Amino acid sequence: MRRKLAAGNWKMNGTATSLAELEKLSSLYPNPDIDILICPPATLLHRAAQAVQANSVIVGGQDCHALVAGAHTGDLSAEMLKDAGAEYVILGHSERRQDHGESDELVRAKAIAAKDAGLIAIVCVGESIEQREAAETLDVIGEQISGSIPDQPIGENLVVAYEPIWAIGTGKIPTLDQICEVHDFMRTKLADRFGADSASSIRLLYGGSVKPQNASEIFSVSNVDGALVGGASLKAEDFSGIIQALENA
Ligand code: PEP
Repeated sequence: MRRKLAAGNWKMNGTATSLAELEKLSSLYPNPDIDILICPPATLLHRAAQAVQANSVIVGGQDCHALVAGAHTGDLSAEMLKDAGAEYVILGHSERRQDHGESDELVRAKAIAAKDAGLIAIVCVGESIEQREAAETLDVIGEQISGSIPDQPIGENLVVAYEPIWAIGTGKIPTLDQICEVHDFMRTKLADRFGADSASSIRLLYGGSVKPQNASEIFSVSNVDGALVGGASLKAEDFSGIIQALENA
């Protein structure tokens, strides 16, 4: 049985006052039936970990370096995130792939570092609008999965998030059939490479303009085990609507 996951990515948003949203969320869900994760900016990570109640919301990082330590100004290792209270780390988000030129190979190295540090990696994959229009979506996703995911993953160290780039922050979402096609494809691809047991333990999230209003229909799609949410995770009230939809799915 895969435990559902509602993951929020605050991106480069939030200062100390934002912790009130996290405290609110944590008090709304003292002992949830699903995993609720917030990935705040690294500056807030330690305070966020302290602001949430035990067994409630968990916190994670938005990126990590592939190495454990060294001369890498401005970077953070997976071990540092763990030390600050993180349990998860988002890797290979399309904004990092675009803004920082991150390759599949680098994402894979980061995922290995995350696993070694005891973090669960949420590896993001997704096509551009040009690739979708050229009917290349499954090829792109397949290539990203092959290149970004390290050997021998299991549900305890890996989550995969399908995030079509054109759906992030745009209010556009794929049709439910399109989400279903990609998620089924990802499950099969993982099973071909790692075997059915490992593949069936790995949670697959959908991300891209998930809101309280569309969450229920997205969560009704097979092989969607939760969501990676940007904008609608910033306010406890909005994220709560998504959490409730996932709890009821
Ligand atoms: C994201 O950045 O991962 C994301 C899904 O953003 P949004 O929910 O705002 O589209």
